[in-house]
Amino acid sequence: MKAVRIHRFGGPEVLAYESVPDPKPRKDQVLIRVRACALNHLDLWVRNGLPGVNLPHILGTDTAGEIVEVGEYVSDVKVGQRVLVAPMSFCNHCAKCVAGLQNQCRQFTVYGNAVDGGNCELFAIPAVNAVPIPDWLDFNQAASVPLVFVTAWHMLTGRAAIRPGQTVLVLGANSGVGIAAIQIAKLFQARVITTAGDERKMERAHELGADFVINHYQQKISEEVRAITRGEGVDIVIEHVGPATWQESVRSLKAAGTLVTCGATTGPKVELDLRFLFSRQLSVLGSYMGTMSELHEVLGHVFAGRLKPVVDRVFPLSEVRAAHEYLEKSQMFGKVVLNP
Ligand SMILES: [Zn+2]
Repeated sequence: MKAVRIHRFGGPEVLAYESVPDPKPRKDQVLIRVRACALNHLDLWVRNGLPGVNLPHILGTDTAGEIVEVGEYVSDVKVGQRVLVAPMSFCNHCAKCVAGLQNQCRQFTVYGNAVDGGNCELFAIPAVNAVPIPDWLDFNQAASVPLVFVTAWHMLTGRAAIRPGQTVLVLGANSGVGIAAIQIAKLFQARVITTAGDERKMERAHELGADFVINHYQQKISEEVRAITRGEGVDIVIEHVGPATWQESVRSLKAAGTLVTCGATTGPKVELDLRFLFSRQLSVLGSYMGTMSELHEVLGHVFAGRLKPVVDRVFPLSEVRAAHEYLEKSQMFGKVVLNP
């Protein structure tokens, strides 16, 4: 089969579209013919070099396709079924996994990170990871859902414990996590403030349901938040940007507010004034992916049409370098998807 592999870390030039042996599914696995694989910022981090990535390595986290083969032990899905792939790898027998806390498993990782991913034509995965999708959801839409929606769902519900009517600041409306978080917060009747970098993205953010959109290049986020909330600040900040927005995110919180972060797009190190943290009684929470149960829960809302994936642009898998360059420029509103 054809796959995109990296043999060394670096820029888009290290992405190699090449022939590799077909995977053979184990008895508890299914073989998927990949129809779509969405990019995430994680693809860029892995390509640039992350510890735990063994070379050569197949990239790609969010995958959708059809089942073409099922292992002997698999009974709940069939050949021909359209599925998306739950993008997480876990041992499925440790105390955390059997408690349903897969993202705390010591072996937990994401497809395309410490294990091979779905930038390929055939993908062997445990049957538990194959989630049937409704007929009306196309493969590009289906591949655009899993990582960002389970991440935003875990951040807002599992970590920040959102309650109806709260005010939520979502950084970066055009990102996958931003698009998911705006819609999930609206599902909880929250008042949503978000940020975007130009008029077109601001308009799209309003269409997704954001109540207020701040232009983060022309306006100071915390000042606008103060004006919108009459000086109070927000209950929850959804952070994934890092140093470029961190100070503004912390300053936007109300007393006893919660900042939850799942990413570091602009870098890994930030400053935190401890006097501000304790005197304002703030909570700063880390969040990583979500559990299988949370994935099924958020997928229920997607399959019912209450939450909508947004596809920005589709590239052939063979043009993966152009797709990475496009993602790196952050011109997108929504997901960038590869088609084998
Ligand atoms: Zn485990």
